[in-house]
Amino acid sequence: MPTPSAAELDRLLLAGLQRLGYDEFRPGQREAITTLLATRRLLLVAPTGGGKSLTFQLPAAILSGTTLVVSPLIALMHDQVAALEARGVSATYLASTLSGAEISARMASIARGQTRLVYVAPERLSAPGFREIVRQIPISLLAIDEAHCISEWGHDFRPEYLQIGDLVRELDGACVLACTATATPVVRDEILARLGLGADTPQLLRGFARPNLALRVAEIEERRERHHAVDGLLAEALGAPRSAQGAAIVYAPTRKATEEESERLRKAGWRVLPYHAGLEPPARDRAQRAFMDRDLDVVVATNAFGMGIDRGDVRAVVHLAPPSSIEAYYQEVGRAGRDGNDAYGLLLFTAADIVLRKRLIERPQEDFAIDPAVIEHKWGLFLELLRWAEGGSCRHDAILRYFGDEGEALGGCGRCDVCVSLEDDAGVDEAEVTLIVRKALSAVARVHGRFGIQAAANLLHGAVDPRLQRSGLDRTPTFGVLREHPQPWLMRLLRRCVSAGWVDFSGDDRPTVILTEAGRRVMKAEIPARLLLPPNGETRARTRARGEPHRGPGEGEQLDLDPAALEVFEALRAHRLDVARTEGVPPYVVASDRSLREIAMLRPRTMEELKLAHGIGPSKAERFGAGFLRIVADARPG
Ligand code: ADP
Ligand code: ZN
Repeated sequence: MPTPSAAELDRLLLAGLQRLGYDEFRPGQREAITTLLATRRLLLVAPTGGGKSLTFQLPAAILSGTTLVVSPLIALMHDQVAALEARGVSATYLASTLSGAEISARMASIARGQTRLVYVAPERLSAPGFREIVRQIPISLLAIDEAHCISEWGHDFRPEYLQIGDLVRELDGACVLACTATATPVVRDEILARLGLGADTPQLLRGFARPNLALRVAEIEERRERHHAVDGLLAEALGAPRSAQGAAIVYAPTRKATEEESERLRKAGWRVLPYHAGLEPPARDRAQRAFMDRDLDVVVATNAFGMGIDRGDVRAVVHLAPPSSIEAYYQEVGRAGRDGNDAYGLLLFTAADIVLRKRLIERPQEDFAIDPAVIEHKWGLFLELLRWAEGGSCRHDAILRYFGDEGEALGGCGRCDVCVSLEDDAGVDEAEVTLIVRKALSAVARVHGRFGIQAAANLLHGAVDPRLQRSGLDRTPTFGVLREHPQPWLMRLLRRCVSAGWVDFSGDDRPTVILTEAGRRVMKAEIPARLLLPPNGETRARTRARGEPHRGPGEGEQLDLDPAALEVFEALRAHRLDVARTEGVPPYVVASDRSLREIAMLRPRTMEELKLAHGIGPSKAERFGAGFLRIVADARPG
């Protein structure tokens, strides 16, 4: 269409909006649509329910030609098509649930150019008949819903999505819109790379802030403590069984755990059912329906539960163990408080969860070995969650930073456990922290590659341990060097050193601890030991009594970038995308977001300085280092 004036465009948009049955735009919708029309490319990231569909439906209604929408969610296509048709906007969908004859009939009408909006399941893209039609009719817009499915290491990869890149190339003249509900900067860059869109493609983010959620994390040591935490939160969020206000979802790590916890809560008087993929479909349907019909207060479920669950009055989401990543966590906890009223998220974890996750990630899938890069990437995602769990700054803001949605950060939500405990914090003695951390790391150095984390804690505490005796470690100066601290506290301290990146595990069956290069440098006082120590017994008793956990170290925190550093970060991201495209690798293989943030902050001048950034080892430095240094040098002010 000829470029309309601003006033004309405004009028067109409003007319389109009304045609679709809405009175006004939601925040961000108008900007998304005008950006898409102006630049012909857009990556839109907003949470589920944020109203992304309008961003392609409205242009479809006002542009001449046909709009293609790729989506993996067939049920959703069906509903949207029905709603559009009811509004007089011709729409249809193509999916394998339709008969061959039905598909042929629909294709024929699409080929006549009679359909404004065509929803297609990704597998349809490879059907020759479909590609033929696409070449025949004018396509004005290609929209890719759930665009993160194109990300190979994302949590929802769909191989058929990889074909969309070809389609984008084929439809040279069409506008391209990619929509997704979860995407960190590195995944967003991967989406652009795989779609073949330039680094200058606008990326709009909005609606991630969920300030009505009070997020909490609690570290627990034993089962009883977990029960106590769950019961406390249910009471706080729902009230008493039988007079419950709203509902709760309890996520459990295994099917067995869902059954056990569900049984325990049932005995406590809650109306509760378990839910997991191992149940027969009727049992699953029953649980889901009962939950939607408000016949249940609580569902104890594996992560199989939740897709398509739309109950606004979920007041609490509890995780009995950490999920795989911040993305997964935020998606799950985001099921609380959809009605905008106060709600709670409680994540529980134990030291053992770290080792369990590592085994899970490294477990070979059937016959083929997993690419070590994939293992490293997944482990990295989990470590990000652990770092977040450790706290240090507002949980809400830390998540927004993680997603790159700094614009919506609150500078402290005032209600998460970290904000609450920061308010009554007594201050910390840095020199003391450094000393304790260095002692802890020296114990790790001594058991390095030989024993597990418990042996390191025993060594620090000076506990009787045959392994220490046999190896003579009980006669070293490290033995008992932190004997004034109880062993559980020392375990927590060591775990914090893991999430700070100073200590790692090696071996599968009985993982031993190892001191990382960064850990060695902290131990030698070459770099500062920025860590918030686990609370001592007294604080812990206090926070536990309030049903609230503690704050954690600053080291693992996402770095807060000043505006200048943010600019360098963005330049590095654009560069990463270029490199990923020329080398044909996913962007995270070039560097993680965290690496780029650290480089932006450090502004290294030399290769040696560059290697101080997280995740930039010798091979990365050799392969990509010169490029990073060049970008930093170019961005350097003056
Ligand atoms: P998403 O694709 O981001 O998950 P949807 O596009 O499905 O979200 O929109 C979620 C809901 O919000 C839908 O029921 C839709 O009808 C409604 N909605 C979207 N935009 C508006 C608007 N401008 N005014 C009122 N309701 C809207
Ligand atoms: Zn907060």
